[in-house]
Amino acid sequence: MFDSHAHYDDARFDADRAEVLAALAVPTAEDPVGVRFVLSCGDSMESSRKNIELSRRYPFLFAAGGVHPHEAKGFRDADLNVLKAWYEQKQIVAIGEIGLDYHYDFSPRDAQKRVFAAQLQLAKTLNAPVVIHDREAHADVYEQIRASGVRRGVMHSYSGKKELLRDYLNLGFYVSFSGSVTFPNASGLLECAAAVPDERLLIETDAPYLAPVPYRGRRNDSHLMYATACRLAELRGCTPEELIAQTRDNAKRLFGL
Ligand SMILES: [Zn+2]
Repeated sequence: MFDSHAHYDDARFDADRAEVLAALAVPTAEDPVGVRFVLSCGDSMESSRKNIELSRRYPFLFAAGGVHPHEAKGFRDADLNVLKAWYEQKQIVAIGEIGLDYHYDFSPRDAQKRVFAAQLQLAKTLNAPVVIHDREAHADVYEQIRASGVRRGVMHSYSGKKELLRDYLNLGFYVSFSGSVTFPNASGLLECAAAVPDERLLIETDAPYLAPVPYRGRRNDSHLMYATACRLAELRGCTPEELIAQTRDNAKRLFGL
């Protein structure tokens, strides 16, 4: 499996990170397949740096670097030069996660928009793929991406409506689904997950968050993504193995691996 969005730098892995990562390729009771690729995403410069360190130690783990909307208030213009150098040196394979979050509003919205725009512009200059976080900011996120000219990226843990999904597909974006497709009352989301063309679909954990049913409440890790793959395969009328192979090939294409 290719887990296209996790946070292995997160403090919830501090006690046993090495054990968890070393065991990802090995099938478990929850995951008969194993995990062969992970994109571990930064949410601040510091967390991006930690993910780069992990990517040096674990050849199956790739880092994305960027400043999350929650952290926008701490963004400095000089951070753009660091992100640029990291991408050019292939220390990160994507700019992310970046976007807008109007649910928590941990940073003022004007700061979120400014930091998002700056990182989109950088991605456009580098032709780097972006990993997008959009929580309750659907119209503004779409408008900023459209205006930026960025056409290479993924909507992470998609939560928008079907009309908006069509707009992102038309821009050339990939769409990723997390364990939230296994939650009750996911019917609108499932309709979206069924509508994404095979070659644009990604899957993810967002570990340590969003563990799928039946593991809800537990710390998530990439093995548990097998339950998400099974739910999506059932929905799309294919086998879990086919879905896993397709989403792995898609992620490799998007991130240039
Ligand atoms: Zn995330």
